[in-house]
Amino acid sequence: MQALRFISEEIVWQEVPGEVSLAFFCSGCPLRCRGCHSSDSWKAGRGTVLTAGYLQGRLKQYRGLISCVLFMGGEWHGGLLKQMLRIAREEELHTCLYTGLERHELDPALLPHLTYLKTGRWLPERGGLNDPDTNQQFTDLRSGANLNHLFQGEPL
Ligand code: SF4
Repeated sequence: MQALRFISEEIVWQEVPGEVSLAFFCSGCPLRCRGCHSSDSWKAGRGTVLTAGYLQGRLKQYRGLISCVLFMGGEWHGGLLKQMLRIAREEELHTCLYTGLERHELDPALLPHLTYLKTGRWLPERGGLNDPDTNQQFTDLRSGANLNHLFQGEPL
């Protein structure tokens, strides 16, 4: 069985509005977007294996300091990602996935374990979430609300 691996781990404030997130950048993205800023992460097998024990240890260390766990990719190992999302939820944390897939392309079994979802490939001519012309969408799955405006400096 292949492992879920990450090439970086950091605390972030902007990627999920209103949340302090522990973010894991997963290696092995198969989408090959033109102009991807992280093409060095495409190779599967790069980085550190993310195990349940490792995540549980990190969440214990950050208890009371973070409110969300964010996965940048990893949906290509859906079963393992689901396991990690469950662990985050057990700690009563919100969860978020940044994927280049469209929502209908994503394994629907992941959705009940997610609070937030960012979808859409990187298209250089459309820009990211902070661009009003973007193809990408950031959704609060609890309400179904599109939260792109929170990345674009518009009033709440
Ligand atoms: S989805 Fe993200 S990481 Fe994957 S190729 Fe596209 S821009 Fe790169």
